[in-house]
Amino acid sequence: MLLEGKRIAIFNVANKRSIAWAIAQAMAAQGAELVLGYQNERTRGTVGRLAEQLTGVKAVVPCDVSFPEQVEALQETVGEKVGTVHALVHSLAFAPQEALHNPYLFTEREDFLTTLEISTYSLVALARAFMPLFAHEASIITLTYYGAEKVMPGYNVMGVAKAALEASVRYLAHDLGPAGVRVNAISAGPINTVAARGVPGFLNALELHQAKAPLKRTVESREVAAAAVFLASDLASAITGEVIHVDTGYHLMGV
Ligand code: NAD
Repeated sequence: MLLEGKRIAIFNVANKRSIAWAIAQAMAAQGAELVLGYQNERTRGTVGRLAEQLTGVKAVVPCDVSFPEQVEALQETVGEKVGTVHALVHSLAFAPQEALHNPYLFTEREDFLTTLEISTYSLVALARAFMPLFAHEASIITLTYYGAEKVMPGYNVMGVAKAALEASVRYLAHDLGPAGVRVNAISAGPINTVAARGVPGFLNALELHQAKAPLKRTVESREVAAAAVFLASDLASAITGEVIHVDTGYHLMGV
């Protein structure tokens, strides 16, 4: 029971394949009380039904990060439902399809701004909204991908957004450290989710990963979730500003 007595907000679950859902299950199994976020009416019902499967879900709340007022409203809604919060999980991203299908050179300004707003700035906005809710020692966890570090053709503007996300982890770790808030990222290997299937060549990436990774297999979302449990727990009390690879070792390889 690594998370007994901890209250954790997770944004966003879309369906049972979402990494956020694997994290919710793992955290609930370790005794956490949860607030689960969903993006819109399209996912509300699914997330509500999933939430019923877990004991310890205290609230299911809307959060579309393209509406700043929705992010700001979380402070009050979450505060009312659970009071203080010990961890915030940011597991959401979006890039317009054209930006993933065209070469990066041709990324439109609007698509660039949308991708960075939804996938990167949202971490900053959520962290700020939650500051008044955080318990003395709190943990922020976000999800990133190796495409931030190396060119993964087809990942394009999302790679740039993830690079900015990883830099944001370091700057937020600096800003929030004095308040006892740790900020870390998990760089997950490819997992078959809705978001991942939107990336051209994703199935090839899965095969390549299996062939090249030292552990000769792809990662499972429960393994990513286990790392999130660790980062949210007191076991990780001196870890901040890190990007932890949970990718069966793929990032080690040169060829
Ligand atoms: P997913 O499709 O299940 O989750 C993506 C989430 O982003 C959904 O819940 C969706 O509602 C949310 N989202 C999109 N636009 C939003 C908006 N405007 N406001 C609020 N929420 C919004 O896919 P996933 O793979 O579980 O993705 C979760 C995170 O993990 C993402 O940051 C993704 O980049 C990252 N990640 C995924 C993989 C992978 O291979 N699946 C690998 C590394 C990192």
